[in-house]
Amino acid sequence: MSSTYDVAIIGGGPAGSTVAALLARAGRRVVLFEREKFPRFHIGESLLPFSMKAFTRLGLHEKFLSAGFLKKYGGEIMGACSDSGTKFYFKDGYRSQTDHAYQVTRSDFDKVLLDHAAESGAEVNEQTAVEAVVFSNDGVNLSVRSNGSSRPIRARYLVDASGRTSVLGRQFKIKKTYAHLQKLSIFAHYDGVWRPEGIDGTLTVLIRAVDRWFWLIPLTNERTSVGVVLDSETFRKSKLSAEEEKIRQEAQNSKKDAKPANTDTTTKEKKKGFFGRLFGKKKNKD
Ligand SMILES: Cc1cc2nc3c(=O)[nH]c(=O)nc-3n(C[C@H](O)[C@H](O)[C@H](O)COP(=O)(O)OP(=O)(O)OC[C@H]3O[C@@H](n4cnc5c(N)ncnc54)[C@H](O)[C@@H]3O)c2cc1C
Repeated sequence: MSSTYDVAIIGGGPAGSTVAALLARAGRRVVLFEREKFPRFHIGESLLPFSMKAFTRLGLHEKFLSAGFLKKYGGEIMGACSDSGTKFYFKDGYRSQTDHAYQVTRSDFDKVLLDHAAESGAEVNEQTAVEAVVFSNDGVNLSVRSNGSSRPIRARYLVDASGRTSVLGRQFKIKKTYAHLQKLSIFAHYDGVWRPEGIDGTLTVLIRAVDRWFWLIPLTNERTSVGVVLDSETFRKSKLSAEEEKIRQEAQNSKKDAKPANTDTTTKEKKKGFFGRLFGKKKNKD
């Protein structure tokens, strides 16, 4: 067998795993590199109906149900000063083809997808980081690093699914920063947050305030993800917690790089848990 892969993929998140599974099922020789060991924490827990067709095509619904992912039937949007919001249900969508999507604990969800890619025939390498990418006329050469040593990989095509890391975006300096989207989010998981009975208890709730918005995402029967998104500058000025230091560090880092690539900064409230004063038992662990 030739040592050249048809496709090399950087990143084993949902994008990388999906493309790996589909290409492997189509008979391509696929290799995927993921720098972390799964399961690992990730944010991005409330899925939309648009993803359902891909899950059907991949044959994933049964695995999702065995993993215990909650069916999500819609959402609710409310103002911070309101007692109730406006609910909507996916079944009522224009030409709706599904009445539900899923709420997922990403560490579990991403692992199901990555294992599925391997079962579909992709060669999956965890704890292996792509360090260098060099294109040639008829393919691409990678240098990948695991267990402290590097090795070369050759493929005809490359898929960059490295998420916010944007390996190729950084390499070619094409990643853009939007001045009006310098956002930050603070989030944590809680047990015991009140929710309504029935399908209304599966809705993602978005609460809109003047200069920020909150999410409440039911992840399991017990656990809820709660987060807030606001301007980094607003949070910095509030002098709320040790998180400020983290933002300053990230701002400094992006200055050093002379390419503040991220349009938002995702942090996890670990110390004070100000939501903890509003909700039940706080769980930092996902
Ligand atoms: C605060 C916040 C809330 C969000 N909420 C939602 C939500 O409710 N619903 C939703 O659908 N989306 C949400 N998102 C978006 C969601 O997180 C992303 O769309 C999703 O994770 C993108 O998947 P991906 O596979 O492209 O990238 P990722 O999931 O980020 O996966 C990229 C993978 O690449 C790996 N990687 C990076 N660099 C390298 C390298 N050099 N070598 C090897 N591996 C590498 C990383 O370790 C990572 O595992 C949210 C995002 C944020 C920031």
